Amino acid sequence: MVEAQRKLYIRTFGCQMNVADSELMAQILAPEYVLTPASEDADLYLINTCAIRRKSEEKVKSLLGSLRPLKRRRPQLILGVGGCVAQQEGERLLAFAPHLNLVFGTQGIYRLPDLVRRASTGERLVDVALKREIPDLPQRHWSSDRFQAMVTIMRGCNNFCTFCVVPYVRGREHSREPQAIVNEVAAFINAGGKEVTLLGQNVNSYGRGLSEPVTFTELLQRLDDLPGLQRLRFATSHPRDLSTELIHAFGQLPALCEHLHLPVQAGADRILKRMNRGYTAAEYLAKVAMLRQACPDMALSTDLIVGFPGETEADFNQTLDLMRAAGFDQAFSFKYSPRPQTRAAAFPDQVPEAAKTERLMRLQALQNELTLNSHARLVGQEREVLVEGQSKRSPEELSGRLRTNQVVNFSGPRELLGCLTRVTITEAHPHSLKGRWVPPASTSSMQEED
Ligand code: SF4
Repeated sequence: MVEAQRKLYIRTFGCQMNVADSELMAQILAPEYVLTPASEDADLYLINTCAIRRKSEEKVKSLLGSLRPLKRRRPQLILGVGGCVAQQEGERLLAFAPHLNLVFGTQGIYRLPDLVRRASTGERLVDVALKREIPDLPQRHWSSDRFQAMVTIMRGCNNFCTFCVVPYVRGREHSREPQAIVNEVAAFINAGGKEVTLLGQNVNSYGRGLSEPVTFTELLQRLDDLPGLQRLRFATSHPRDLSTELIHAFGQLPALCEHLHLPVQAGADRILKRMNRGYTAAEYLAKVAMLRQACPDMALSTDLIVGFPGETEADFNQTLDLMRAAGFDQAFSFKYSPRPQTRAAAFPDQVPEAAKTERLMRLQALQNELTLNSHARLVGQEREVLVEGQSKRSPEELSGRLRTNQVVNFSGPRELLGCLTRVTITEAHPHSLKGRWVPPASTSSMQEED
């Protein structure tokens, strides 16, 4: 009984995969720890880290430093660092922070109960083993107020893009058994869930190495067949592994949302080759054209890196050309940041920081223009929205997401939270849309759509 009262606080850095991993940590530790939103109350404080850019790594080290006073006040507190920085730094983190009890890597999550028990006896330990087999877990418990879920379907990556640390910190690709995924999603829908996002470093290569080979598109079909699933999304996809079969699933599977995040990273073939991406700009644009033909309402988002080693002004201009040609609805753009162990970190022709900053500003100005154009095209249309919460800009307004992933703020009753409803888009802004709620015509009471 006393054990169940122990409190766990998790601070998460990084991507959706890390958010899902933090949920997994809470799930695995649930027999002994309950989550607390207040770090001051915690008996176990875990930091889930991201190593994709140097900045995120620096933030973790600075947070660790700032936790010294808390640890002095509460010496019994167990402080642990997990995730990609932990995987990369291992023992070095223990040496960096003498008040740190535990360092666990990306697969150490599965061994957390034992690691935490040992740390509570005063042992300082590191577990960064990467194993080929990843255990499946007991069925997740879904609370009935939860309407969105992230479900990890695979871990690791085999691609070795020359800028990316993922294969080193998350290991090789490993797909979960399809039936375990179907069961997890079915249980979520039975508990009232509406939207599922499938996660993996490279989801569209899902299925390799399974005892019963299943392609990613076949998995989508099985999930789409589950009665009650309203929205299905996935991230992230590699353009090279985007099959014709998957392209045609858009527009055919009713739950599959008309949005694809397809990182292109650069627009010059020379740079794509040095990045080891495995496609040319023309091949990427040909897939975009096929997508738009298969599903004219498709929204596309992407990731872009500026200032990759050797990138010239002419190469950079080709990235801008590709952005215009693809007509991205949204882009996440970053300055290249050398990461330990990666091949590109050793390339001799690193781009000066000032040039990277200047190019990033130009690229983001172009993307703002493209996003605003894509938003403007939606004005006047009536669309389905899943209401996710209060608007960030005004607590009086609700905020929801279209199937095509844009955020819409609108006035409506709070009871709509977690429901699918309809809005007419009235205004386009650079980062969001404004809408007018369209109450269900047939009844004055709140009603969800089929
Ligand atoms: S495919 Fe993605 S996760 Fe894999 S190495 Fe390339 S950038 Fe990293």
